[in-house]
Amino acid sequence: MNSGSAVITRRELKEILYICRQDVSVADTLGYDQADNTVYRSKINHALNEIAASLLPHLPAGLQCEVYVVDNIPAAATFNLSDGCQAVLIAYHFIRFLMGTVHMLTGGLLPKDDGSGYYVNWTVDDQERKYFGRLLGAYLEIGVPGLDVNEPSDLEEQTLVAALEFVIAHEIVHGLEEDTLVINDHLTGFQDYGRARAQEFRADRRALALVLSRRGEHNWPELAFLGAEICLLAFSWLEQFSLLRSQSLVHPHSDTRLLRVHLEEPAFWRAAGIHLDMSDLTAAMLRRAFRLQAAIEERPEELWSPINHLLGQCTSDGMSNSDMFLSVVSLWFAIAPTDLVAHSLGAIWGSAIRMRDEDSRIGQTDVRLLAQLALFDLLYERLVDGRVRAISVAYEMARVRDRVAAETTLSSL
Ligand SMILES: [Zn+2]
Repeated sequence: MNSGSAVITRRELKEILYICRQDVSVADTLGYDQADNTVYRSKINHALNEIAASLLPHLPAGLQCEVYVVDNIPAAATFNLSDGCQAVLIAYHFIRFLMGTVHMLTGGLLPKDDGSGYYVNWTVDDQERKYFGRLLGAYLEIGVPGLDVNEPSDLEEQTLVAALEFVIAHEIVHGLEEDTLVINDHLTGFQDYGRARAQEFRADRRALALVLSRRGEHNWPELAFLGAEICLLAFSWLEQFSLLRSQSLVHPHSDTRLLRVHLEEPAFWRAAGIHLDMSDLTAAMLRRAFRLQAAIEERPEELWSPINHLLGQCTSDGMSNSDMFLSVVSLWFAIAPTDLVAHSLGAIWGSAIRMRDEDSRIGQTDVRLLAQLALFDLLYERLVDGRVRAISVAYEMARVRDRVAAETTLSSL
């Protein structure tokens, strides 16, 4: 994403960072202790600034770049500052999704015995499908995926760095080109959309060229493509599987961006003067990615629902464990987009009401379902007793609940 060519002051940047921070007001209302994961986040922020610094020698002299991890943006944005520095903002939730995606896809690339490269494991086993289901399901439902903490392989770590190089380089190019989202009055709406699309493809191409020139012939140049394509694939999965309308009318679909980058690989190799045996690493990775995608589509119940999982845990004995429920829900409100968490809770609340109504129509009673409904009622009461923001979130949850409770066919939330 680029954010307009206007140059902003440090003070304006501070205000933007304030607006893009995590909204923790609802978590506060539920009594969540904010001592959370600030150390982990600042470690990530530090690593991103190191990645940005490694790109600078390949950019016009004197350019400075600062990276900020924020919450309340779709993925990434950039601003040119009046002191000549570029500020790049990257969403924490997307970084976590990217980390999981890189872990999953590089896990299927296995080193050849003779050390000459990697081969791809074509089979997708139950464990891998479950991992994908947990990663994608949690992101879609509450906006932040959980992460299993594993010791990353060298390939995984290097690929993640390459993917983040691509994200940061894409934003730096927007800043250098002074790309803008300000409407061009000389173009009609569709023409102006064409201009905005062109900016994105150009930023992808130049970002890749930048990452490739940093890596050079000897520093694993294949990873420039592996990182960029996994990054675009991660965006594509979020676009494809989400029920919410895409927030961005500026970006072309990520599938198209991915296809162009992938098909243009040979041209990039030639332009960079790198003479390696042509690598089919990315083609193999993409085929594996589509197998994973097909595996989850065939077993959609494995697209994990953190809310249903929590409800099951909190009512396993037929009683409502309200402490556990409120503590996990408040954690979600502390780290995930408030509106998305509220929508998803409201939707599952509405489905539970529909199931209860169906039960009573046929003269049955499901004790666990009633215990789950009691948890939603309790959460609603706690929120309407809170401050203004919590009250509006409670009303939004109830609005979605009522709509879903009355629905009989699939529709967007
Ligand atoms: Zn962009």
